[in-house]
Amino acid sequence: MTQCDLTPAENALRERRIQLFRQRGADPDLAEQRADRLVQRDREGDTRAYCGECWHLRGAVCSVAGPPRRPHAARGSEPDQTVLHRCAPFVDALGMTVARRKAA
Ligand code: SF4
Repeated sequence: MTQCDLTPAENALRERRIQLFRQRGADPDLAEQRADRLVQRDREGDTRAYCGECWHLRGAVCSVAGPPRRPHAARGSEPDQTVLHRCAPFVDALGMTVARRKAA
């Protein structure tokens, strides 16, 4: 995918996501790869998300892990940031997409 393939809105969101991932410690190549994957995800209507785009991520730790919001995950746990997944408490850190709240 090249930037020429993107609409202006997709490109603007891609840039914001790259900035977010970079702020959260991803190297430039990884930040771009994930942002590109999210363009594809959005186009496909896929409802999964990366923890790296979630408001609840603090450093590498999910701030809502543990009861009552994520009772299946231990408090202070570090979620896998490499996979798209569905997570009930997910909140988009950029506030740009509809919250993906329904766990599969
Ligand atoms: S709430 Fe879910 S999506 Fe958000 S950081 Fe925690 S595990 Fe990841």
